[in-house]
Amino acid sequence: MDGLRLDGNAVAGLLQEVFAVEMTTAVGTCSNCGASGAVGAVHVYRGAGLVLRCPQCDNPLVKIVRNDTHIWIAFPGVRALAIAT
Ligand SMILES: [Zn+2]
Repeated sequence: MDGLRLDGNAVAGLLQEVFAVEMTTAVGTCSNCGASGAVGAVHVYRGAGLVLRCPQCDNPLVKIVRNDTHIWIAFPGVRALAIAT
């Protein structure tokens, strides 16, 4: 294995820190139109799961599906997410 490459366990602490904070104040940037805004301001649509859409261009930013044992999250439309530390 390349000396600079690690597996996902190497970022376990960082990921725990990132996903344990107040996310509604995090600022996301839409990969379609470039608009930036607080996660709390996105439009949320309910169906088989939840779809968070850009309030400017309606681009699907985040998809979330949950059952009794897991939560699946995809970020197909987020260019960047800024989380205050
Ligand atoms: Zn957008």
